[in-house]
Amino acid sequence: MKKIIVAIDGYSSCGKSTIAKALARYAGYTYVDTGAMYRAIGLYTLRNGLTEEADIIAALDHIQVGFILVDGAQHVTLNGEDVEGYIRTLEVGNCASRVSAIKEVRAFLVKQQQAMGEAKGIVMDGRDIGTVVFPNAELKLFLTASAEVRAQRRYDELIAKGEKPNFAEVLADVNDRDYRDTHRAESPLRQAEDAIVVDNSHMTEEEQMEVVYGYFNRFQ
Ligand code: C5P
Repeated sequence: MKKIIVAIDGYSSCGKSTIAKALARYAGYTYVDTGAMYRAIGLYTLRNGLTEEADIIAALDHIQVGFILVDGAQHVTLNGEDVEGYIRTLEVGNCASRVSAIKEVRAFLVKQQQAMGEAKGIVMDGRDIGTVVFPNAELKLFLTASAEVRAQRRYDELIAKGEKPNFAEVLADVNDRDYRDTHRAESPLRQAEDAIVVDNSHMTEEEQMEVVYGYFNRFQ
C-alpha cells in the first residue's frame, strides 16, 4: 500500500493531537507532535532565562530536540532529557508561542520535521504542516472549534492535572494564542487552500474519527 503524508493543522486545543494519534495508530504510521518541539524550545528559554531574540537564536546551537517512546507513548526530549512532564503548562505554551514567531527557530525545527517525513507514512500535527513543512502532503486537514469550546477542553485538562485554572483566564489565553499564531510574520497559522476543514465544536471523538478515517481511506 502506498504510504502518504497526513498534515493536520489548526488552532490550539482543538483536538489535533487526539485525532493525529488515533489516525497514526489506525494507519500504522508515525505520529509527530510538532507543538511539543516548539514547547521543548520554549522550556529551554524559560529554564535559562532567555528573553532576547538574539540569545534564543544563539542557543539553537546548544539545543537538540527529539522523541522517544515510553510505554508506547511519544515523549519529547530536550538535549536527551525526557521533558514531556514539563511542557504542557500554560507558561511553557506561551513561551512556545513566542519562540515560534522567530524565523530561525522555525527553520531549525522545520528542517528536522521534513527529514522525519522523507519515508512518508507519517501523521504530523501543528500550525504550518500543510502550508510550509509539507506543502505537497497528500492529505491535509484543518481542524477548528469555537474558542469557548477549546477553552473548556483546556480548562478540563488542567483540572484533571490537579491545577486550579480560572476559566476567564484560560479563554483569554486561547484568544491571545490564536491571535499570535495567526498574525505572526513567519508562517502564520492559516488553512492551506487544498486542506479539508473539520469543525469539531459539536462532534464527539468517534464522529470525528469516522470522518477522518473516511478521508484517509480514499488513498488506500
Ligand atoms: O500545539 P501546541 O499548543 O502544543 O503548540 C504550542 C505552540 O507552538 C503554539 O501555540 C504555536 O505557537 C507553536 N507551534 C507552531 N508551529 C507548529 C506547532 C506549534 O508555531 N507547527
